Amino acid sequence: MGDSQRSVKGRPSVVPAGHPPSPRRESKRARSQRLQAIVQVLAQLYPTVTIPLRHQTPWQLLVATILSAQCTDATVNKVTPDLFSRYPSAQALAQAPLAPLEALIHSTGFFHSKARALLATARQVAARPDRDLPRTLAELVALPGVGRKTANVLLSAAEIEKWPGWDARAGGLGIVVDTHVGRLARRLGLAFSLDPTKVEAELQTVVPPDEWAIFPLRLIYFGRQTCTSRNPDCPHCPLLSLCPAGPHHGETPWLATRGRTAVRAGSSRSSSSPNPANST
Ligand code: SF4
Repeated sequence: MGDSQRSVKGRPSVVPAGHPPSPRRESKRARSQRLQAIVQVLAQLYPTVTIPLRHQTPWQLLVATILSAQCTDATVNKVTPDLFSRYPSAQALAQAPLAPLEALIHSTGFFHSKARALLATARQVAARPDRDLPRTLAELVALPGVGRKTANVLLSAAEIEKWPGWDARAGGLGIVVDTHVGRLARRLGLAFSLDPTKVEAELQTVVPPDEWAIFPLRLIYFGRQTCTSRNPDCPHCPLLSLCPAGPHHGETPWLATRGRTAVRAGSSRSSSSPNPANST
């Protein structure tokens, strides 16, 4: 017999025998074993992954990540070639007039606040003794316009791309939690919170540290291609047998502690803040 759970949208929600139970009833050991299997499947699906935001330097990745708040990577990648040719470094961008900068990044949305954040960050980096980016999470989040997600994007890229002079793990590397990672973590029963910082802490208890840089990037690719927000392809999903949300069509009934709002958490965009300054 399967594990009967609350039905969602009138669809059947009987969990097939052998399928993961509700994550609320899963032991930490069982979750850890399931996570290891998920890591293996994703590694086979995406043996090599590249950072989706085009960049040639750590500074350029920082700029692109700030621009990516509430915006697709594809749009950012259309904007940055011109932006980087005019302002290739923090020193160059620190001198940029506000209005032309806003015009350059207009299509990424929230261009007023993003332009101000870029200028403030560029000026602070340009004023540093080494005129370069700091290389620890604590120092990165102290920059204006840089939140924990952006700092983790940089440190993850440093680890994956092996940036000279960077030691991501010594620098406090965490786990990038964007809207895809948050959604996937909840659907896969690896995290329960809507708060990205809490999701990161939850993931850190089950994801091995040597996977902290690459695992979220693989989740992001998978979340874009298969486990999308509105239409997850559960019937054809290679993680179906490992995913407690699969029999519920991507919904997460075990999060339904405060009614339907929580049920929708698995497929919501709730980990994105409407304020780009808070989401980066
Ligand atoms: Fe996402 Fe469905 Fe696959 Fe689970 S089974 S990871 S909800 S697509």
